[in-house]
Amino acid sequence: MSKPDAMTAGILVIGSGPGGCVSGTMLVEAGHDVLMVEEGEHLSLDSAAHFSREEMLRKYRNGGVSVALGRQKLAWVEGRCVGGGSEVNRGLYRRAPEFILDSWRKDFGVENLGFNSMKAHFAACEEIARVEYVPGAPSEMSQQLQRGAQALGWQSIEAPRLFSYDPDGKGGRRQSMSETFVRRFLQKGGRLNARTRIDRLRRVSGAWLATGSAKDEAGHSRPIEIRAQRVFVACGAVQTPALLRRSGFTHNVGNSLRFHPMVKVVAEFERDVNFAGDLDPVHQIKEFEPSFGMGCSISKRPMLGVALSDREGAWDLVHERSRRMGIYYVQTTGGTATVRNLPGFSDPLVRIGFTANDLHVLGTGLRKLCEALRAADAVRVMPCVAGYADVASTRSLEFMPSSLSASDGSVTSVHVFSSCPMGENDRRTAANSFGKVHGTDGLYIADASLLCTPTVVNPQGTVMAVAHRNALDAIERQFS
Ligand SMILES: Cc1cc2nc3c(=O)[nH]c(=O)nc-3n(C[C@H](O)[C@H](O)[C@H](O)COP(=O)(O)OP(=O)(O)OC[C@H]3O[C@@H](n4cnc5c(N)ncnc54)[C@H](O)[C@@H]3O)c2cc1C
Repeated sequence: MSKPDAMTAGILVIGSGPGGCVSGTMLVEAGHDVLMVEEGEHLSLDSAAHFSREEMLRKYRNGGVSVALGRQKLAWVEGRCVGGGSEVNRGLYRRAPEFILDSWRKDFGVENLGFNSMKAHFAACEEIARVEYVPGAPSEMSQQLQRGAQALGWQSIEAPRLFSYDPDGKGGRRQSMSETFVRRFLQKGGRLNARTRIDRLRRVSGAWLATGSAKDEAGHSRPIEIRAQRVFVACGAVQTPALLRRSGFTHNVGNSLRFHPMVKVVAEFERDVNFAGDLDPVHQIKEFEPSFGMGCSISKRPMLGVALSDREGAWDLVHERSRRMGIYYVQTTGGTATVRNLPGFSDPLVRIGFTANDLHVLGTGLRKLCEALRAADAVRVMPCVAGYADVASTRSLEFMPSSLSASDGSVTSVHVFSSCPMGENDRRTAANSFGKVHGTDGLYIADASLLCTPTVVNPQGTVMAVAHRNALDAIERQFS
């Protein structure tokens, strides 16, 4: 075993997703010596086409395959590269609704979390990572969902994105962390080490010692150790509890992981709606929030093929009619999961349980989504759930099961949070109201793990705003 490479930092930030990048940038701007480490590679936004196989292999954890086990399974994906999930996502942007922040205050005892005071933190992040609406008309596929909602009198919105659109509305650039906060962090003197994974944290002689490994470009690994006065853990909602638990911190850590479970359908329309070069769809149906929300997914040919892979002749169907097809989803908040380490494995075991009500809400949401697409004049709606028949008439909606029965991986998710909730309610929280791990000195959580419950809306804005709020509190109140 070779001797570890030794480094020091005033503050070590572990993980460079939205939580880590916002915290790191704030800390370095306040004059602190900050080293941010990231397990994945530092790649430019253009290094792989968006939603390509190459992107999955290079920028996702496990090439995009992670499964939560249980009677009903759930497949989820996470980014693993500098910028974390922001590098691979669509950047659909919503601020956390007031009722969510209220419930975090009431149920988890989060102090000073007013809707009005949070506005400043949302706005500060939005200024650095731009949030814009499509300047012209959104894509046809996106508008189809809105037409369905309008026909039924349901509330729908056009969501803005973390995106800088060209003035003609035909293209633009995603505002991922590598395009925004990472640049700012580096310009202000922050240090960033990619391909560096931290395995454990321990307290040694009044400081934190982080141990792990760093890979060179050829993939050869060497041991490292980093000594720091303070540590911000921002490894994402699954890896943060795994790291904390490996380091001996277990109080309310990894017991309450939540997702936005999602089921998809493919709708086929009478005319073309899906064109190469379309901007990503942006419409969402809000009518049934907080129970469930609906939206449009990326619907390139390979995605359509995968979505319909359970159906006989799927590839021929996609080959013939992909321009008439779009993928849509319904997303709920049900299911609770645990995160536990297994000896000898670098990834933790995630176990999920759904209640009968969770499955009922998923079933109801799926039926409502099919209804919206029928109202948008879809000639055929194909639920992407094994054993579900096509919905070819409004009448056939009545025959859809009222609860989702699938246990075959039809339920997926891209939103992960709540594994280490913040707040003063010691029975439910792992960290205090500003992210400091209970009972520790100088150890903070700074990512989606802190969000006490699902946000119901797209979460990245809330991850960033909470990280901004907490870093500011640490700088102004705790470090002085
Ligand atoms: C495909 C996809 C689509 C999405 N779409 C949207 C959307 O449109 N809108 C929205 O609001 N949200 C969306 N999200 C969710 C959003 O990306 C996340 O909420 C956000 O990225 C969470 O930020 P985070 O900082 O908590 O963690 P992450 O972004 O997961 O970042 C954590 C980082 O830490 C690194 N890391 C983990 N363990 C270690 C370790 N031990 N040592 C060093 N580094 C480590 C990881 O490699 C990763 O880069 C999407 C996510 C995905 C995957």
